[in-house]
Amino acid sequence: MDLGGLLSRVEGFREAMVSTLVDLISIPAIGPENGGDGEWAKARRIQEVLEGFGFRVERYDSPDPRVPSGYRPNIVVRLPGEGDRTLWIITHMDVVPPGDLSSWKYPPFKPVVEGGKVYGRGAEDNGQSLVASIYALRAIREFGVKPGINVALAIVSDEETGNKHGINYLISRGLFRHDDLILVPDAGNSDGSMVEVAEKHIMWVRLDVEGKQCHASMPHRCLNASRVAADLILTLDRYLHEKYSFRDPLFDPPNSTFEPTKREPNVESVNILPGRDVSYFDCRVLPRYSLDEVEEDFRRVASQVASRYGAKVSVEVVAKIVSPPPTDVNSEIVRRLIKTIRLVRGVEARPMGIGGGTCAAPFRARGYQVAVWMTSDETAHKPNEYSKISNLVGDAKVFAALPFIEG
Ligand SMILES: [Zn+2]
Repeated sequence: MDLGGLLSRVEGFREAMVSTLVDLISIPAIGPENGGDGEWAKARRIQEVLEGFGFRVERYDSPDPRVPSGYRPNIVVRLPGEGDRTLWIITHMDVVPPGDLSSWKYPPFKPVVEGGKVYGRGAEDNGQSLVASIYALRAIREFGVKPGINVALAIVSDEETGNKHGINYLISRGLFRHDDLILVPDAGNSDGSMVEVAEKHIMWVRLDVEGKQCHASMPHRCLNASRVAADLILTLDRYLHEKYSFRDPLFDPPNSTFEPTKREPNVESVNILPGRDVSYFDCRVLPRYSLDEVEEDFRRVASQVASRYGAKVSVEVVAKIVSPPPTDVNSEIVRRLIKTIRLVRGVEARPMGIGGGTCAAPFRARGYQVAVWMTSDETAHKPNEYSKISNLVGDAKVFAALPFIEG
């Protein structure tokens, strides 16, 4: 197998990849939850591109009356290899809204190529990997060597707004086998050295402290909610960090985090003692711990601190996302991916855990082994999102080589 020949075929697609990425970014694909019309127009364009390269496109469209087309489109293309297992590369075509337009240096849906980067909403999340996977498949087919495994792309909708009409729809249609290899190139770091195999649990907690408001010169006549809250926040901070102190080097950072974040405005004037204080914690907890236990700790510590002051504290969990079991760091997809990245890019990648949800979570929840990897400057969801052209081409080379590299 002439790996160099395959990679230089991918290299030859550099200009074409950039123009396909520019073309696709210019078609917004925003889910109805975010006020958009869905992915229909973009899916049609992707289908044209694939058919233009001679692929037969399968469509699995999920009915959704909230969008004008009535459907959320999902695209599958396959390239037969030897045997009956399949290597899947899963990307999503939907994007998040641009947010505040004044912070963009170019219009988000009129992509601009400048300084080796393609700017636009969806450039990196997930356009870069989507386009790279299409050209990787094209390169393999035109190269004419059958890989030892079937290769398939799934290009899905609804990743940014819950996965129901996207990857979950495909999983429910029985497209994936448990011995398939699944790659989700939708998160990564700037040198491509991070293979994501695990996620932390996420919990957001709201603490509402009720005291009694009065003039600041008469503190003995009231109960300063701000002081109670300050004590409560620090007590929780120390207690939780001490109790949940295990460090797992798979994760960055290796520990569970409990961060006091948002604080709601209280009184209008400096000379008023606040009678109420509302604050929040953002918790990212290692999967070995139980979020129910963390929640119980919040409630117990809060009532202890409250009773010390004679205040009232209510604890409300405003978000709770239990992470699925991690992918085995020795699973075949992880081993093959790390070896391929080493051979193609000379980078020593390692399995890691991160904080956030991708298409990998629904797979992991159902017991599939899945790796998340791409090379990314982490501009997703930010203004001036961009894709580095060297990452676009470099990742396409890894995707093209992966089916040929045994773990
Ligand atoms: Zn994404």
